[in-house]
Amino acid sequence: MPIHEYRCEACGYCFERRMPADDGETRLCCPACGKPSIRKRFPAIPVMLPAATAAAFSAPPARPAGR
Ligand SMILES: [Zn+2]
Repeated sequence: MPIHEYRCEACGYCFERRMPADDGETRLCCPACGKPSIRKRFPAIPVMLPAATAAAFSAPPARPAGR
């Protein structure tokens, strides 16, 4: 499931939500102030990127040792 990034127009609070692409965003409310003035932000990773590149972007720069 993709992670969508949202921003509250009322207080500027940014948060992420994991949900289907066509889920009702209108039901979203700001977790900080509770207002429904939520705006969707464009993902930092373009969808057109190859999966491997996208994975490299989303992966942490350094993998913790142990494995
Ligand atoms: Zn808010």
